[in-house]
Amino acid sequence: MPLARRTRSLRTYLLWGLGSLGLAFILVSLELRNFVHPQLLEEVNAQGRSLVRYRAQQELLVVLLEQEADLRSFLMTGDKAHLEAFARERGQVTEPLRALRENLPEGAGGADHAQMERLTYLVSHWQDEEAVHLIRLRLQGPLADLKGALSQETRAFGEVKAASAGLTRLLDARDDERLQSIEGTLAYARWLGYSAEAALFITALLYSRWLLMRVSVPLADLAEQAKTGDGYGEPTGNQPVKEVEILGRALYELDVRNREREALLRREHDAALATRAFEELTQHLDREEDLLAALDQALARQVQASAQRILLHPAAGGGLRSALPPMAAGEAAPYPMLEDPDRCRAIHLGARVCLESGAPTACICPLGVPEAGAYLCLPMVASGRLLGLVNLQSRNPGHWTPERRHIAAALVAAATAALQGIHALDLAKERALRDGLTGVFNRRFLDEVLPKTLDQCQRNDLPFSLLMMDIDHFKAFNDEFGHEGGDQVLRLFAQCLQAKVRGGDVVARYGGEEFAVLLPHAGEAFALTLAERLRRAVQELPLPEEVFPPGRHITMSIGLASFPEHTRSQEVLVSLADQALYQAKGQGRNRTVSAGALGALEHA
Ligand code: GH3
Ligand code: MG
Ligand code: MG
Repeated sequence: MPLARRTRSLRTYLLWGLGSLGLAFILVSLELRNFVHPQLLEEVNAQGRSLVRYRAQQELLVVLLEQEADLRSFLMTGDKAHLEAFARERGQVTEPLRALRENLPEGAGGADHAQMERLTYLVSHWQDEEAVHLIRLRLQGPLADLKGALSQETRAFGEVKAASAGLTRLLDARDDERLQSIEGTLAYARWLGYSAEAALFITALLYSRWLLMRVSVPLADLAEQAKTGDGYGEPTGNQPVKEVEILGRALYELDVRNREREALLRREHDAALATRAFEELTQHLDREEDLLAALDQALARQVQASAQRILLHPAAGGGLRSALPPMAAGEAAPYPMLEDPDRCRAIHLGARVCLESGAPTACICPLGVPEAGAYLCLPMVASGRLLGLVNLQSRNPGHWTPERRHIAAALVAAATAALQGIHALDLAKERALRDGLTGVFNRRFLDEVLPKTLDQCQRNDLPFSLLMMDIDHFKAFNDEFGHEGGDQVLRLFAQCLQAKVRGGDVVARYGGEEFAVLLPHAGEAFALTLAERLRRAVQELPLPEEVFPPGRHITMSIGLASFPEHTRSQEVLVSLADQALYQAKGQGRNRTVSAGALGALEHA
């Protein structure tokens, strides 16, 4: 039997043994207690009763003695005061008699009662017959024979005392008998208790001996087996040594694998942290160049390429342009891929390409293939639109480990999402500042840019002019060719203005068919020349013949105001240009009027 099972069974035997012993002991004690206790109680009660009885007997005798003394005193002296005491004590006799009667043993036989009856009779006889007779005689006259009367009374009283003593003896005899019976029972109970204890002791002895045998024999067996080594399947030969070796090797390999896994997890964790940090950073960038610079730095820090390039694909289409590092003017020539992005394998596939330069399937693109080493190209695609490409090169062929590829891809993905956001924001801003119909800037933009431009020119001490234009008789034009035709003219008009002004000039729709042109750095003379050139261009603007009759043209009137010639205040500048326009309309339209030609000029 295996050691564990043996130990378990031994422990079970021991517990069972102890439990049974305890239970047996409790049962025997309870039994003895139940048996002896009522007997003892009965004995105590009986003793109590005989004490009460004894006291009642004594009390009775004392009362009777006092009565006798009072009677005698009365008989001898004739003093009635003794008679009163006698009469008073007569009532007290009944109390001890009642106590005696009540304390007769339970189930007392006829002898006790007869004796009691006799005692009661003698007491009342002595009092009623003897004493009352004597008293009556004494009260009638002097007693003739006092001595005889007293001896008669003494005799009667003696009989009472004898009867009382007889009752006491009788009861004592009965009590003795009862006590003897109780003592007999107790002796029997004691004998029974001793026997039970002896039996219990012998049983426990036998039981413990039996248990000892059950415990010691298997233990001796075990000791014997341990001595001979039989019980433990002693290994033989060198088999276990091999097993230990194999186990040790397996544990070592497991440990190595665990360490590698731990290191990998740590690297992945670090990379995830870095990527998240970069993602958070991109949330705060709202300029394209800032975002690209951040991506460039993050890549340099995280994947350590020997060369890296970020190319952008403008929203308007066309090829790729190198944003970082910026390319010199003629540098793009050796990279035909930049002209036609679809020739790039990564862009074509819409997935990253990672290869060694010497691989047979390596790209022929000079951007992506270092002379010796490996490269990784990551297209930046968002919502199905190509935003750019990140090209990473390394001189080390094994540089692009899965981890580095993973980090680079995560960084580029985060940058792509952020770039898309920035583009969307730029577009929204641009749209918010453009007029929907004509595409030139709107009034809001004009209101924003006007004070800034004026401020800038003021600080640099440069001139600045504002042209306010209004198409002549446009209402009639509208009425004649419909609103659609009017819109078409407005678009052509705006395009014409935009085409004729310089790069830094701002064309804005002021409202309806009224437009404004801001001319930074232009004084009155230059502005006047430009205004006239614009006016002529509009006048000559060909209108589509399918809508408008051939030879139909539009004209416009222009009001001009210049800083600092006419005013230094922005509000006044606008107002002056407006007034000049009004003047031009008044003078017959299709002309330019400068604020300088207005009657009352307000110089700020
Ligand atoms: P003038 O300026 O020479 O005094 O005459 P006008 O007829 O051009 O005068 P007015 O400024 O009163 O009329 C401007 C008209 O331009 C009124 C309106 O019908 C038209 N208009 C304003 N905005 C638009 C627009 O967005 N599209 C079209 N089709 N018409 C517009
Ligand atoms: Mg108008
Ligand atoms: Mg008009």
